[in-house]
Amino acid sequence: MFTVEVKSDRKEDICLLIKVDNHSFNYICDCGEAKALSVKECQDTNAVFLSHTHIDHFVNFDTLLRHQIGTGKKVVICGPNGIADQVQNRIKSYCWNLIEEGAITYEIREILDQQSYKSVVLKPPFWEQEVMGSFEEENIFIEKDFNVEFEILDHKTDSIAYLFKAVDKTKIVLENGFRGGKWVAELKNAFDENQAETTIQVEGKEYKAKELFPMVKKEIGEKVGIIMDHDASPENHSKILKKFGLCDEVYIECFYKDEDKELAKKNYHSYASMSGKIMKECEVKRAYPIHFSRKYKEEDIEKLIAQFEKAYANND
Ligand SMILES: [Zn+2]
Ligand SMILES: [Zn+2]
Repeated sequence: MFTVEVKSDRKEDICLLIKVDNHSFNYICDCGEAKALSVKECQDTNAVFLSHTHIDHFVNFDTLLRHQIGTGKKVVICGPNGIADQVQNRIKSYCWNLIEEGAITYEIREILDQQSYKSVVLKPPFWEQEVMGSFEEENIFIEKDFNVEFEILDHKTDSIAYLFKAVDKTKIVLENGFRGGKWVAELKNAFDENQAETTIQVEGKEYKAKELFPMVKKEIGEKVGIIMDHDASPENHSKILKKFGLCDEVYIECFYKDEDKELAKKNYHSYASMSGKIMKECEVKRAYPIHFSRKYKEEDIEKLIAQFEKAYANND
């Protein structure tokens, strides 16, 4: 369902692109420098999910803006408390006297707390904040086939971790010589609506829905997590366990190798073996370390990844 590509190389800051099956748009998580991000990928972006606005996660927002201007689209930007002012300030630092109205619209969803967000619209040429209201909602973004939940982690500032979750699907697997037909949709509907006694006609014969229920299979939607900068604290870890347990795939920050764990503590970051350990505890099927300190040489990064993998694979 979801295909995640890391668009920044190891020496750049962090930017991920998420593509969704059968969906013409894509999604960006964090705007660090990313030379591999193409103009078309920026233009086809439907929503941007920012964890926080330290410069290594926000510096490339202008590139996105540059390529999206003129598409006439509405793009959603999700981010932590204060994000509406920060995006507005970035945009307003340019001169917009020649811009056409409708060149782009940004809807900013500013996460206020774990249960609510504020929606603000920014449009050219004046980019004034038009507040659309506050919404009580545990999903920050809802699309036809998936939604995005969030968790506020502590990084001495709010750092938002996002969970992309495909909706569960009901499938009918034909058995015992049954052939497809209009009844398949009726059976799905009866199952979803919990109407076991409904009568369903299959090739002229009547059945109670519950007699056909053994052919109904529930397909659990894929879950992909993006966990950026966070303090390796018990509080953050219990939130991560709750939200990202049993995920199919998680990308987690690994800014420091184990030898630098004091620096990690000082800067409210995680480090290699701790990120691997929490992924192991979450029983994530595939976990990937991302976002390494720029001070590291290639061999340091190799070592860091090995520390992560060892803790993630640990069978104790
Ligand atoms: Zn940070
Ligand atoms: Zn960072």
